[in-house]
Amino acid sequence: DEVRELLASRIHDVPDYPKPGVMFKDITPLLADPKAFSVLTDALAGICEARGATKVVGLEARGFILAAPVAVRAGVGFVPVRKAGKLPGATLSQGYDLEYGSAEIEVHAEDLGEGDRVLVIDDVLATGGTAEASLTLIRRAGAGIAGAAVLLELGFLGGRRRLEQALAGAPLEAL
Ligand code: 5GP
Repeated sequence: DEVRELLASRIHDVPDYPKPGVMFKDITPLLADPKAFSVLTDALAGICEARGATKVVGLEARGFILAAPVAVRAGVGFVPVRKAGKLPGATLSQGYDLEYGSAEIEVHAEDLGEGDRVLVIDDVLATGGTAEASLTLIRRAGAGIAGAAVLLELGFLGGRRRLEQALAGAPLEAL
C-alpha cells in the first residue's frame, strides 16, 4: 500500500557495506524525510497501541531513533537495550552468538517489571540474534512480551524463525 511504498522508497541499498557481498539497507534517507519519519512513527505507535504495550524497548543504535518518538506518540515508556558496558546502573546481561564471535547486550533491571508488556523495536531484522537476546532479557527482567516490530525484515536470513520461541506466540510485524 501507500505507506509501504513511501517507506520503501526512502530506504537505500548500499552495495558491499560494511564488507564485500553485503547489500546494506540504509535508513538515513527515511529519517531525513519528515513525512516518511512521521508515517513510520505513526505505524509503529499503532502497533504499540494494538498490542497493549506499556513500554517500548529500542535496540542500540538505530532502534533508539525509531522507538523514542513511538514512545512519546503512544504514551508509553522508552527503555534502551544497549551493548555491554554502556549503562551506569544495575543491569541484566544477555550474550548471543554472531557469525564470528559473540556479543552481549544489557538493560537496566529497574526499567522493566512484572506489570510491563514490552514491544521490541528495531530498524532491520537480519539473523534475529539481537532481537532474540533482547526478548530473553525482557523476560528475565520479569516483563511480558507484547511483540516485536521492525521497519524491514531481511526474510532470506531466517530471523523470523529464530525469534519464534522467544516470542512465544506474540507477533512480529515488519512494515
Ligand atoms: P541481527 O542480530 O538480526 O543479525 O542484526 C540486526 C542488527 O543489525 C540490527 O540492530 C540492525 O540495525 C543491524 N543491521 C543488520 N543489517 C542491516 C542493514 O542492512 N541495514 C541496517 N540499517 N541495519 C542492519
